[in-house]
Formats: sequence, structure tokens, C-alpha cells
Amino acid sequence: MHVSSTLQDLRLTLPKLRAVGTTLGVVPTMGALHEGHMSLIEYAVNRCDSVVVSIFVNPTQFGPGEDYRDYPRELDRDLAKCRSARVELVYTPNISDMYPAGARASITPPPVAEPLEGLCRPGHFAGVCTVVHELFRQIKPDLAFFGQKDAQQTAVIAALIETRRLPIQLVICPTVRTEDGLALSSRNAYLSPSERMQATCLARALALGRQLVMDGERRRATIERAMVELIQQAAPARIDYAAVVSPTTYLSLDPSEPPLMLAVAVHLGQTRLIDNCLVGQHP
Ligand code: AMP
Repeated sequence: MHVSSTLQDLRLTLPKLRAVGTTLGVVPTMGALHEGHMSLIEYAVNRCDSVVVSIFVNPTQFGPGEDYRDYPRELDRDLAKCRSARVELVYTPNISDMYPAGARASITPPPVAEPLEGLCRPGHFAGVCTVVHELFRQIKPDLAFFGQKDAQQTAVIAALIETRRLPIQLVICPTVRTEDGLALSSRNAYLSPSERMQATCLARALALGRQLVMDGERRRATIERAMVELIQQAAPARIDYAAVVSPTTYLSLDPSEPPLMLAVAVHLGQTRLIDNCLVGQHP
């Protein structure tokens, strides 16, 4: 496995992976790799001839007062995991490789970035779009692997690819969870033991919402209230949203017919967690 820690080295190394007819996959990450990331890498290794994993804690997708400085950084462990997963190349760029003109987001995200996370984390998706577009430009992958865990992000990237006509196939991989349902996240490391126990309330709220829909409940407010009440009973949490939305626009939806997306974002102490559940078939 090769590690490129600069853009210059990436440019020298990529042609060796890009023999004629090969399929190149990319898995963009911010590192602190867990089983969720590793499942994306496994999908990529199975689908592609060569796989690049990028590890870059992207400053422009963190808002003021968010956890950019505290975000876990475990490069040696990450490299060992990538090596044993048979990744060809890990790209760990410098800030100046990604932002030669200074760390500012330069891409206006598509409309699907506006609700939910867009309202709670202003500027977040502009940062995501800017860094992902730059990674795509530098690596020129055929396929890009993203997790359903960050469902709205996948919709934003899909729109970015479509509106810019990038020749990249987006592959969305299922959310990996612990046995008690908590979606794996690098931020789970911040949770105290009691918060960790309470954190299952996100998945339980989604399961309740899903059950209500399956049982025929069609009033959005009723489903959202049930999810909020479950979370409030489980934990002293600050809820950003517990929402029923369209899986294509992420705008509120009256669930007369699935498919629909149930999405939650909750602060437990200092830690902000998100999770989602798709009900019915994606169009
Ligand atoms: P991050 O390092 O948090 O930016 O995540 C990098 C990629 O891993 C994103 O596409 C995430 O959606 C994906 N990911 C994070 N957690 C999980 C999980 N529990 N299951 C599947 N994919 C995940």
C-alpha cells in the first residue's frame, strides 16, 4: 500500500494505478476509521481494481464552535486498517493541497442541502461539496463510495455529480451499527458511558417511526411527535430535528405513500449524533 501525503505525490502515484481498463474507486473519509468506514472500503475493494481512501479532516465543513480541533485523528491505526483491507493508496493531503487559496468553501451546494443539516449546520454542505469536488478533481475516480449513515450528504453528492456532469458513479453503502442499534460514528468516542447507553434512542426512535408508518399512520406530526417523545424519555437530549422528509428533496413530507425518510439529529451532552431510516423503496 502506498501513502501519498501530498498532491504532488498523488499525481506521481495515480498513473501507476490507472492502467488501461482498470476501475478506480475512492472512499472519502475524515479518518478515525471504524467498521462503518471499513465496510465502504470492503465494498470498494470488491467492486474496483484499485481503491484510494482519502483521510482529511476538512476544516470548511465544521462550523464555529464545532469539534474540528478535537476531532479524533488516528493516522497510524487508520493506515494499518487500510493495509489489511488491501487498499492500494491512502491519500492524506495537507490543507494547502486541498485549499491552495485558503481554507474557504467555494461551491454553492444544491437545494437538497438546504433543509435539516443545512439549517442546523450552516455552511456544512458547502464545505463538503468543496472538498469532495476537489478530491474528485484530483483523483478522477470511476466510482465513489459513501455511507447511508449520512443520507442527506449522499443526496447532496448525487446532485453535485449530476449538475456538474461528473463521470463518476455514486455507490451508497448501508449503515453499520452496533448490536444495540447505534450507528457507528467517529463521534461516538466522545460519549460518556451513560450517554453511550442513551444513544440507542436515535435508532429506537427511527424504529418507532417506521413501525407507525407500517401500521398505517399517515400524519407527519404524529410520527414526528412520537419520535421526539421517545428521545426525550430516554435522554436529557437537545433535539435538532426528528423529521419525516422526502428522500429526494429532504423537505417535509406527509407520508401518504412511502418512500419516505425518517431522520434524527440529537445532542447528547457535547456530542451531536445523526441517524436515518428509509421507509419503502427509493424512487
Ligand atoms: P466521515 O469520516 O465521518 O466523513 O465518513 C466517511 C464516510 O463513511 C461517509 O461516506 C460516511 O457516510 C461513511 N460512514 C460513516 N459512518 C458509517 C456507518 N456507521 N456505516 C456506513 N458508513 C458510514
